[in-house]
Parts: sequence; C-alpha cells; structure tokens
Amino acid sequence: MSLNTQILLAAILGVAFGFILNLFPETQFLSASLYGLGIASSIFIGLLKMLLVPLIFSSIVVGVSNLQAGGQLSRTWKITLACCVTTTTLALILGLACAHLFKVGQGVDIVMFQDAMNQHQTPDTLTPGSFFTNFIQNTLINPFKAFSEGNVLAVVVFSLFLGVALVKGGEKFRSVRKLSQQFFDIMMMMIGWVMKLAPIGIFALLAKLIATEDISVLSRLAEFAAVVTGTTIFHGVVVLPLLLWIFGKMNPITFFKGTRAALITAFATSSSSATMPLSMKCAQENLGVRPQTAGFVIPLGTQLNMDGTALYEAAAALFIANLMGLDLTLGQQLIVCATAMIASLGAPGIPSAGMVTMIMVLQSVGLPAEAIAILLPIDRLLDTVRTVVNVQGDMMISVVVDRHTRDLDMPIHSN
Ligand code: ASP
Repeated sequence: MSLNTQILLAAILGVAFGFILNLFPETQFLSASLYGLGIASSIFIGLLKMLLVPLIFSSIVVGVSNLQAGGQLSRTWKITLACCVTTTTLALILGLACAHLFKVGQGVDIVMFQDAMNQHQTPDTLTPGSFFTNFIQNTLINPFKAFSEGNVLAVVVFSLFLGVALVKGGEKFRSVRKLSQQFFDIMMMMIGWVMKLAPIGIFALLAKLIATEDISVLSRLAEFAAVVTGTTIFHGVVVLPLLLWIFGKMNPITFFKGTRAALITAFATSSSSATMPLSMKCAQENLGVRPQTAGFVIPLGTQLNMDGTALYEAAAALFIANLMGLDLTLGQQLIVCATAMIASLGAPGIPSAGMVTMIMVLQSVGLPAEAIAILLPIDRLLDTVRTVVNVQGDMMISVVVDRHTRDLDMPIHSN
C-alpha cells in the first residue's frame, strides 16, 4: 500500500476511533487511549518540529543561491509576492462576502456568551502599529537565538541574507554552497524516514481531536462554523484550483493527488510549519516543482501566505460585529481586510495562531478583544480546514512560480 493511501486510511480510522472514544466518557478506556494517542502524536509532531528549523535554513540558503545563480531571484520574488497578495485578497473578499450573504451571528444570542467574555482575561492591546514593531523586533535577532527558540520568521530572514551573501561571494564560497546543498539533502532523507510514521501520527492526532473537542459547543455556533468551513473549502476547491489551472497550467486533480499526504497532515496537525517538510516533498516529487523554486517558495509561503487564516479572521470579525448588533461601515470592513492580511502574514504556522492575531483584527475596528472567548471553543476544529488551505496555497504558488521562471533556467553550481 502506498504511503498516500496509508495516510488517507489512517485519517478515516482516526476520526472513527475518536467518535468511538466519545461513547466512553470518563472511563479508564478513554484515559488510557488518550494517553497512548498523546504519546504517538507527540512523537510524530516532535520529529517534524525537530527537522523544521534546519530544513527551513538549508532550503532557503540553497534555494536562494540557486535562484540567484540562475538569474531568477528577482522574478521569482515578484511572482511569489504577487501570488500571495492575490490569493489572500481573494480569500478576504470571499470571507466577507459569505459572512454578509449568510448574515452570520445575527440569530445567535450574545447573552449566552456573556459569562465566558467576562471571565476572559483581556490581552494587551494589539494594534497594527505595535504588531509591526514586535514583528521587526522579533525578526532581526541573533540567528543562534532564533535557531534555539525555533523562531521561524527570524530564521527565514537570516537564511535569505546568507543565501544572497553566498552568491555574491561567488567562487570563493563554493564549498559552503556545496555543503549547504548536502546538508539539505540529508534533511530531506530524514524527512523521508519520519514520513513512515505519518499514518500512526495522523491516526493519533485525529482520534485525539475528535475525542477531546466539545462537539456540543460547536452546535451552538454551528451556523458560523458551517459558513466559515464551507467558504474555506470553496476557496480551496474552486478558487485556488482555478488559479492553478489558469496560471500554473496544471490539472487540479493531478495537484490534489500529488499533495494528498501534505493536505491530510495539515488537517491532522493544524500546523503549516509542521507540515512544511511534507509540502516541500510533495511539490518536488509529485508536482515536478524544481528544488530551487520549492526550496524558496514553500518555506516563505508557510510563514507568510495564509489564505485560510485571512478568510477566517475577516469572517469572524463580521460575526462578532453582528453578534454585538453593530453594522460595520465599508471603511471599517476595509480596515478589517487590511488588518487580517497583516495578521495572516504575521501568524506563525502553529495550531490556533490565527486566534492570537484575531485580537488585532477585532481591535482595529473597536470590537472587544474578549469576544475571542466566543470563538475559542470552536477554534481547534476550524483550524484544521484553514490550515489545509494555507498549505494548499503554498504548494499551488510554488507550481505557478516554477512555471513562470523555467525559461530563466541555467546551469547552477559548478561543483
Ligand atoms: N494553524 C494555522 C496554520 O498553521 C494558523 C492559524 O491558526 O490560522 O497555518
């Protein structure tokens, strides 16, 4: 059985086992199962996280030096950026449009959530200004600190610099370039080993998620959850494939077949960062994206391109406003869009990261930060789908960028 099929099967069995566990509340069987599932999922996620920082570092260094050597850097940059902005903007428009269309939050009674909101600790104010300052302060730091703390964004920035420096140094640094390439190859080999555990990890993650989430809370917020999930799926199944077909000239079915392992892993882990090693592997091995493009676009996209998160934050802001009986003006909705775009850029690819940056979006139009107490109970469930679309967007962009930079291809290293 291929790994792809094993992963799919594991996901189905994991969800089924999670529902079975729900039939045995407060039993020894449940606690023992949760303990076992917890260990299995921690091993899988732990291994992925262990490889994440060295992989991002080496893939960007190698990616940039190869792109630059092929004379493609500036075009690749521009296309990557244009794709990120376009897909995120479409996601934001879609989020707002659907929230309006389905009038999310208008029938729900805010009093129901008053207790949760009162008990919620108001976090420090997070304005776009302070967010930017923090963003810069956390990004331009000592690389060793960044490595040890797993600060992905700072690692991305340092690796970009180093990649450019290696190219500018030319022949003088040839051996370092070769070393980086070999280091990267070793990382990919190790990821191949970790992937053998993916079916077990995914089974455990999904079973645990279903067994521990309070599905009854979901039913109270069901309408909002259904609209957000449906819209996110629409973006992933219609909008992105259409763009891929037009600009990447790739059949969406080929795309979905080739990326299934990464998409299921994104669903199970709710983390684009943890899924990144797989996204890279799928893009290169199954979609035919050249390593230098994948090595540059995927780590960058993982950090900066989050369509699902942007869509969710825009729709959620409107949901909260409707709950409070407020009508956001067009200007306020534009502010929501702009802030949600910044928020999705800055959100790290980890579970529920979007929830933290959501505060900024709410505050940008004067909605209370405490209102996230309403969204928190359903966040883990919604996070699964938005992470899938975040990861899908990264792989899709790598295909489009690769297609539009192939003509610049030249021999790269003279090893
Ligand atoms: N979990 C998402 C991701 O990793 C981020 C978010 O919370 O929206 O892409």
